[in-house]
Amino acid sequence: MPTDDSVYSYSAVLMGSPILLKLFSNNQPLASHVFNLIKHYEDLFTVNRADSQVMDINHAAGQHPVKVTPAVYQLIKCAKAASILPGSAFNLAIGPLVKRWRIGFKGDSVPPADEIITLLTITQPEDVILNDAECSVFLAREGMEIDLGAIAKGYIADRVRDLLQKEGVTEGLINLGGNVQTLGTPQGSWSIGLKKPFSTSDALVGAMEVSHKSVVTSGTYERYFEQDGQRYHHILNPQTGYPLDNELDSVTIISTDSLDGDIWTTLMFGAGVEKGCRMLNGRDDIEAIFVTKAREVILSSQRHYRFTLLDDSYRLIERTA
Ligand code: AMP
Ligand code: MG
Repeated sequence: MPTDDSVYSYSAVLMGSPILLKLFSNNQPLASHVFNLIKHYEDLFTVNRADSQVMDINHAAGQHPVKVTPAVYQLIKCAKAASILPGSAFNLAIGPLVKRWRIGFKGDSVPPADEIITLLTITQPEDVILNDAECSVFLAREGMEIDLGAIAKGYIADRVRDLLQKEGVTEGLINLGGNVQTLGTPQGSWSIGLKKPFSTSDALVGAMEVSHKSVVTSGTYERYFEQDGQRYHHILNPQTGYPLDNELDSVTIISTDSLDGDIWTTLMFGAGVEKGCRMLNGRDDIEAIFVTKAREVILSSQRHYRFTLLDDSYRLIERTA
């Protein structure tokens, strides 16, 4: 972050996460406007409360379609498109499994294998039926549940950016608990820290210098529990119903839109380093930083940002496409 005295920081806790807004003028009314906008979207998208538009869809599963506001419809449509890509690790219909595992919430435990197999049958993204003309969503099977937890923060970060732009802000930053979106280039760039996985302190592996970019990180260390010496984290493999298990501790995506970052972190988690880098070929706008269990930091490319390694117990590898 810039150390300039003229930076004004505003914070709140929303969506179960610490939210940080940085501006270059003292503007509490604008900060309140931003936090209200975040609350507005949280109220539409959340599945951690009984009432929201997404919960209305979930409550009507197997019964009838539900008309929703355009923002909810568009986000669900975008999430479905990412979910039905061939071999996608992203699945907006993963809700029943997320609820059953309860990872990061009280009472989390490994479900019996037969329960996981049963729940997999009600997590098919093709069973999320969209009607553009009606702006309605129908979950074809009883018990189905949409979960936008992997994508909502990215969408909201972009809407905050749009609001700030509309209000004439040329330099600013919003951090929605790991989803960072930036405006402008204060002092040349923003410096965004990359967390060291499983570190108890706020230790960093490195830092990204960005301007006008989003930086989104998903990590296995963010939410997990341990049972019988094994760690279970919160990003599930839609094919098996168990947490994705590969060489990765975290994936960071640098992109223009935070929505892309939020989707692609999940896609990259599922793909792993080799396949992930291949998938990014030809995607000039999406860049990935993989942090592996073997203490490597692998950059798919470094076109729109600069990475600095800050922890020499990690090895920096830059891939050339
Ligand atoms: P993120 O922090 O963006 O990586 O999103 C993690 C959250 O997305 C989890 O806490 C779940 O609510 C949800 N989730 C877990 N696995 C998946 C998946 N395979 N596809 C889509 N959402 C998921
Ligand atoms: Mg995500």
